[in-house]
Amino acid sequence: AKEKGKNNYQFFTVDLHRDLSDKMMLEREMHKAIDEQQFYLEYQPQIDMKTNKIIGTEALLRWNHPKIGLISPADFIPLAEETGLIIPIGSWVLETACAQNKAWQEAGFPPVRMSVNVSLRQFMQQHFVEKVEHILEQTGLAPEWLDLEITESMTADVSHAQKVLSCLREIGIHVSIDDFGTGYSSLSYLGKFPITKLKIDQSFVRDLSEDHQAIVKTIIDLARNLNMKVIAEGVESQEQARLLLEMNCTEAQGYLYARPLSALDMTKKLSG
Ligand code: C2E
Ligand code: CA
Ligand code: CA
Ligand code: CA
Repeated sequence: AKEKGKNNYQFFTVDLHRDLSDKMMLEREMHKAIDEQQFYLEYQPQIDMKTNKIIGTEALLRWNHPKIGLISPADFIPLAEETGLIIPIGSWVLETACAQNKAWQEAGFPPVRMSVNVSLRQFMQQHFVEKVEHILEQTGLAPEWLDLEITESMTADVSHAQKVLSCLREIGIHVSIDDFGTGYSSLSYLGKFPITKLKIDQSFVRDLSEDHQAIVKTIIDLARNLNMKVIAEGVESQEQARLLLEMNCTEAQGYLYARPLSALDMTKKLSG
């Protein structure tokens, strides 16, 4: 089935639970996708709300299948997790994003941070930190320009998370908690993790009802009290931006500022 995706282009969508043949087909195709260079990244700017300057960019994975067309990450990442293919795919993403950021810096653009999504399977793998470190060395990107986005669920194993996060922080890599507010999070441990930033989930931003405003305000205050930064994602309207600024939110990402962009369009944004 094809339907209009949230990025305004055609995404192939599959019901992975209903249609097993689709699922097996996707798995087979995913194996070939890296070798055949069907994956690419888009980059979505992250904005300083006070200055309106670009301070970062999130790498978002895209799969352009030669026959099916564009497949949404929401459809293939869960399957990539299940099959373990997320490990090589995730390494490719990390390497490509770091190399791109290094290239922008070499070109002389004002440096921005590169946010990269990390899946649970990647986070739990042995030698994850060493792998990241190796990619930084290979690409020449300084650790301070990399920001790994993890989710609350990855902090459930407190001792593992504490180990990995403190190693990453020691190297100088930033770590953000993505979709914050939607998952399990032990508030008592949150302060003990060396987390740089909380990323307010877009479900709260989309509908800034009074309840959601209270939640957003609480997350912003929590971040400040824990000496963490805070970014709102899914910001689509001026009104949302105004309310967020009023609540002392400092960073934002969303269609209001820019949709996810091709590397070329992101390069143009950075140069202009
Ligand atoms: P996410 O990490 O929460 O990424 C934000 C999603 O919101 C992206 O969807 C982005 O295109 C979309 N978005 C950004 N601004 C707006 C807005 O203003 N309004 C709306 N409605 N949506 C907005 P996308 O690119 O389809 O990615 C979906 C999810 O797939 C991501 O959610 C992330 O969980 C996962 N993903 C994407 N790339 C990777 C990757 O390289 N590795 C892993 N492990 N997961 C990835
Ligand atoms: Ca993310
Ligand atoms: Ca998110
Ligand atoms: Ca999400």
